[in-house]
Amino acid sequence: MLSVVRLCALGAAAYNSREDRGRRPRECASGNGGCVLSSQSSNSAEPIHYRSTNRRAPRATLDAALLQGQAVDRGLYLPERYPALEPAELAELRGRPYHEVALAVLRRYTVGVFDDATLAAMCRDAYDFDVPLERVAGRRYLMRLDRGPTASFKDFAARMMARWMGRLMRDQAGELTILTATSGDTGSAVACAYHGVAGVRVVVLFPPDEVSDRQRRQMTTIGGNVAAIGIDGKFDDCQAMVKRAFADPELGGIRLTSANSINIGRLLPQSVYYVYAYVNLADVAAGQRIVFCVPSGNFGDMMGGVIAGRMGLPIERIVIATNANDEVPRFLETGQYAPIVPSRVCISNAMNVGHPSNLARLVDVYGGAMDETGRIHEPPDLDAMRRDLYAVSISDEQTRATIRAAHERYGVVLEPHGAVGWAGLERYWNEEVGGGDEPLAVCLETAHPAKFPEEVRAATGVEPEVPPSLGGLERKPESYDRLPADYDAFRAWLRAHIG
Ligand SMILES: *Cc1c(COP(=O)(O)O)cnc(C)c1O
Repeated sequence: MLSVVRLCALGAAAYNSREDRGRRPRECASGNGGCVLSSQSSNSAEPIHYRSTNRRAPRATLDAALLQGQAVDRGLYLPERYPALEPAELAELRGRPYHEVALAVLRRYTVGVFDDATLAAMCRDAYDFDVPLERVAGRRYLMRLDRGPTASFKDFAARMMARWMGRLMRDQAGELTILTATSGDTGSAVACAYHGVAGVRVVVLFPPDEVSDRQRRQMTTIGGNVAAIGIDGKFDDCQAMVKRAFADPELGGIRLTSANSINIGRLLPQSVYYVYAYVNLADVAAGQRIVFCVPSGNFGDMMGGVIAGRMGLPIERIVIATNANDEVPRFLETGQYAPIVPSRVCISNAMNVGHPSNLARLVDVYGGAMDETGRIHEPPDLDAMRRDLYAVSISDEQTRATIRAAHERYGVVLEPHGAVGWAGLERYWNEEVGGGDEPLAVCLETAHPAKFPEEVRAATGVEPEVPPSLGGLERKPESYDRLPADYDAFRAWLRAHIG
């Protein structure tokens, strides 16, 4: 049994009809009257429910899905339907501040849980930083998602989810404990976002040998309701200990949940920046199509794009760029899925994932079924996936060469994750666009170059400027516990410190 909270009446199991799954975003975006998605009213006040990809758990309201993290059948939550973004509304969002775009997108998913005024205040508060859209060459742009307080794109989702959960916990007795295993960026984004949120504690497990100095300090200098534990092992050990804790009946008295991208709260806010880029760069009235390129590891970021597409954003293609952990590009090519165990160590370390949890969601959206172990129970529509997605794997050597070339040719400074994305976009350009009309394309840069100063310096000679958010970490006192990679020791720690 998962020790999770159940908030709403999880009564009769209700499964969504699957008629609207496996539809391609372009069908919906064309304004085709027969399209299920675009025929839905955009300001429908009907709450959206969330269903599990494993299809054996009852559907849930957003508040329950947020606080549970994973469904009781170990599946992942997805919205039962995707409300439409009408072209007229998209046109109105052009030039609006990011937090207003966030409100316009997210309010459809929070109906019945947060009213518009509450959500608007949360959006203003969470998104108080820039989202630069830089033209690199021709119609190719870079969207920098690195201006949040921990300098990775994970701030976008962590900050919204923290506000959602904090608000829900205000009306609840007791305390919720978020357990998170991190190889770097998730831990710091989550710890920073939840710092000071009443009713919520955060426990971050990290492998001290696998995170950078700066990443560790981002987790260990916060204090308060945030505890960091250095585990003498690898990231995989941290992950395994967290998973065991969720399934441990002896911890039944402690309300545990997850802030990893298995939580639907991490996914929904990640659809907003796709909309933001589109309305500000595309000819909305003409229904211009756009290509997005997403450097990917656990595929939560990219699922945000898939959700935006289901809402009617005219996405031509999503280019998925992975590092040498190429299980998803291989899957799209062959239809066979094999996790990579252990995952391959690459310089784009936040993407060293050999079995992405969000793949089950992607398979589900395309009409298939994959369980949490990666077993496919029903194949997805691979042809439709291949039309919508273009997947490439980029080696470390290519990543370094891309950091160098982008700087030489365009004067753009990339860090390893964004460079994997840019290399993926270039490959797509060469192989699919050729001499044809250049589409509008946006590559996501997911971290600040100052998080990876050695790689950036080696490839470009440039010393990346440290943003204020990362400055001063050396002067703050660090505090964290150390534990062996042993589950019993971790359980004893939890018992002593929580509950
Ligand atoms: C987490 C992370 C990624 C991968 O995002 P997913 O949602 O796991 O695909 C890419 N780049 C950076 C910098 C990250 O921190």
